[in-house]
Amino acid sequence: MIWNELLIRYGEMSLKGRNRKQFIQKLSTNIRLELQDLKSIKLKAERDRMFLYATSEELVQAIERLTDVAGIQSFSPIAECESTVEAIQKTALAIFETEDTEGKTFKVEVRRTDKSFPLVTGELQKEIGGTVLRAYSNLTVNVKKPDILLHIDIRANGSFLSSKVYKGAGGMPVGSNGKSLLMLSGGIDSPVAGYLMMKRGVTLEAIHFASPPFTSEQAQEKVVELGRKISAYGGTLKLHVIPFTDIQQAIVKQVPENVSITSTRRIMLRIADQLRKEIGALALVTGESLGQVASQTLESFTAINAVTSTPILRPLIATDKLEIIEIARKIGTYETSIQPFEDCCTVFTPSSPKTKPRLEKVEFYESFIDFEPMITDAIQKRTIIECSLDEKTDEFSDLL
Ligand code: ATP
Ligand code: MG
Repeated sequence: MIWNELLIRYGEMSLKGRNRKQFIQKLSTNIRLELQDLKSIKLKAERDRMFLYATSEELVQAIERLTDVAGIQSFSPIAECESTVEAIQKTALAIFETEDTEGKTFKVEVRRTDKSFPLVTGELQKEIGGTVLRAYSNLTVNVKKPDILLHIDIRANGSFLSSKVYKGAGGMPVGSNGKSLLMLSGGIDSPVAGYLMMKRGVTLEAIHFASPPFTSEQAQEKVVELGRKISAYGGTLKLHVIPFTDIQQAIVKQVPENVSITSTRRIMLRIADQLRKEIGALALVTGESLGQVASQTLESFTAINAVTSTPILRPLIATDKLEIIEIARKIGTYETSIQPFEDCCTVFTPSSPKTKPRLEKVEFYESFIDFEPMITDAIQKRTIIECSLDEKTDEFSDLL
């Protein structure tokens, strides 16, 4: 293999001062975590880019995995050689051997930081372009929009050549923007919402409400699987499974059917908020999208939000279903999400929920039940599952 290292570019160039330093540190840590089994990896961070060194085999693996790391805008494998015309010619030809050249166009771009190099930029561009054209009769030059752009960076300590640019996940490194609690159902939306927040640098834990025996083992297993899939973007994900049967039955008994979904959401939110405090998170995240179902209208949000002043982040609020599905496919959660296992909300869903629930009415019906002890009890009886792609999922009960 001709590549010696990877050049990693950060996005978010507007970051300044201390933020930038933290951003770079977080990104280094996350890259190390993602590649921790690759022992030869070495990182060198600079102000606006990072270099990753490794053995050839491990470099190939790093290329595959870095596309998932939030905070990386793009990266390129680099071939290094001596700063002589002959060495650069040889390396350029070796790079074109890795490209599919049939019917393609190319351009050579030179950056000459080492001013003592005998040829000026234009001369070297012509020289290398000519070398490539002589070797590949199926290539033509296109300076405006080439299929293959060979970039040559000439420095005093050597020359650095690259032709490939891989897209990273963009966004900001996970962990650089605080912690939130994701309300994770088994559906399509909430895993996508979690992924988008992680991409924004947020560390996540997740909460799931299960209503056994109305919801099955498999339904929970599906949520764990979703947790594992999105953990790929942040290392691990702690999932808190809340036993919700008693509370849901109390709601069904006490609250009229057409507003029971609003009450259910409100109690879920109260539980999530309580747990949020316990784990030291700052916000809650849901997969809600405006107008998607009866409980996702502005009137519903008003009635639901009234139980807490904690920020509720709804990254999918203005995204339509097809776009959400597209992201779900990209991050690999879609196939799991569409498995047909019941969710606690679907089991108890009324036939005609109100799209414009009135807060005072909902509060009135709820006032007949003392939810507080039930909430505390449910949180105490939760099961905590560490979701991670690498290790076997390990489960333990949190008997506080
Ligand atoms: P999703 O595809 O994420 O299930 P949805 O379109 O089915 O969303 P709802 O079922 O109304 O919509 O759920 C709205 C949001 O409420 C979900 O995105 C999720 O954040 C949260 N939620 C719903 N059910 C649960 C549950 N059983 N446990 C945890 N959170 C839940
Ligand atoms: Mg759902």
